[in-house]
Amino acid sequence: MVSADERREALKGLFHEARGCTRCPQLAQTRHTVVFGAGNADADLMFVGEAPGRNEDERGLPFVGQAGQLLDQLLAEIGLSRSQVFVTNVLRCRPPGNRDPHPVEIENCQEWLFGTIEQVQPTIICTLGNFATKLLRGDPTGIMRIHGRAEERLVGPRRVRLFPVFHPAAALYTPANVEVLRRDFQQLPGLLALGAPEQPPPLVEAPLEIEEAEAVEEPRAGAAPADPGPPTLAEELEAVVAPPEPEPPREEEAPEPQGDQLGLF
Ligand code: URA
Repeated sequence: MVSADERREALKGLFHEARGCTRCPQLAQTRHTVVFGAGNADADLMFVGEAPGRNEDERGLPFVGQAGQLLDQLLAEIGLSRSQVFVTNVLRCRPPGNRDPHPVEIENCQEWLFGTIEQVQPTIICTLGNFATKLLRGDPTGIMRIHGRAEERLVGPRRVRLFPVFHPAAALYTPANVEVLRRDFQQLPGLLALGAPEQPPPLVEAPLEIEEAEAVEEPRAGAAPADPGPPTLAEELEAVVAPPEPEPPREEEAPEPQGDQLGLF
C-alpha cells in the first residue's frame, strides 16, 4: 500500500508537471497561472468545481472569489475548514471571459484531475455543478435532478461516494438555491461518518513463475505485524492540525513563480 507521505510527494510531482501544461493552446496562452488545487493532501472530502475564474487565475488557488467565500461559509457551518478538505476543478486554467469549458479542454485536463484523485484518495467527492458532476458520473444527467443524492461510483480504480451539489457561483444568482446548497451540505458530516465505501479487489498481476507464487505464500519468520488498518477520520483531522514541517528551500531549485500555488496542508 502506498503511504500518505508517498502520495503527498506524488501529488507535488503532479503539480509541478501540470504547471507547464500546454495541451490547450488557447488556455495556456491566456492564463496567468495553472490552478492545480489546494487543501489537505490526505483529505476524505474533495470538492471538484468547474474552472478557475479571474481571482483564482491571479492567485493560483481555487475558489478564492465570491463563490469561494460561500464555500468557506458552508464548510464552517458543518464544522469544516479548507485545511480539512481538498478543492480542485475540472479545468486547471481559466477559460477566457469565464466561458464554459470546451469538451476537448475537459478531455485534456482529465489526467490532472484523475491523478489528483488518485493521490489524495478521498472517500467523498462533492461535485460542484454540472461540469464536474457529468464528468465524474460519466453521464449527462443534469445537476437539478440529482443534487443532494450520494451514490457510490468507481472513479479510476477506487470506489467513492459521489455527492453532486449546485455550484456555489450558480447558487449565488438565486438566493433560494443557496438554501438548497446549504441543505445538501448538511448531509456531508453523515456521509463522512460512513467512512470509505468497500473497495473492489486490487488488480494483481499473475505471477510469472509458480515457484515465485509459492514463495510469497509461505509464512515468513519475523513478518511485520498485521496492518492496523486505515486511520479514523478523527485521527486524520487531528493530524492536519499539525501541518508538516516546511521543507528548507533547496538552492538548485528555481524560485516558484508568484501566484502559481499548491496550497497543501
Ligand atoms: N468557480 C470554479 O468552478 N472554480 C473556482 O476555482 C472558482 C470559481
